[in-house]
Amino acid sequence: MAEETTKIICITCPMGCTLEVTHEGKTISKVEGHTCKKGPEYAEAELTDPRRMVTSTVKVKGGVHPLLPVFTAAPIPKPLIFDLVKLLRQVELEAPVKVGQVVVHNVLDTGVDILASRDLLPS
Ligand code: SF4
Repeated sequence: MAEETTKIICITCPMGCTLEVTHEGKTISKVEGHTCKKGPEYAEAELTDPRRMVTSTVKVKGGVHPLLPVFTAAPIPKPLIFDLVKLLRQVELEAPVKVGQVVVHNVLDTGVDILASRDLLPS
């Protein structure tokens, strides 16, 4: 496999440094363009196991609003995001819901829970 350079935007903080990552497959030989040591760590994670936090909504029966905003308690593997969104479309809770309540435990066997972003009172 030949060595190549890939540009990656580090999204760890609002600086958004553009990283130039020299790598052969998933093996990194050089990272440039970072302002702090988190840049190379992010590049490594992005090349080997890219993950993202996901926010979405789920349906709620008998609440003051029909939808509840939810989020992943930790980043999940990027390839699972489509399946996660599909799964969340099937979820329906009953009001009331408390902020931080576990909506789905260990979603898609990732070890990550889906949590409620806010309280939702009954209508
Ligand atoms: S490299 Fe450091 S300063 Fe730059 S975006 Fe990443 S975390 Fe922020």
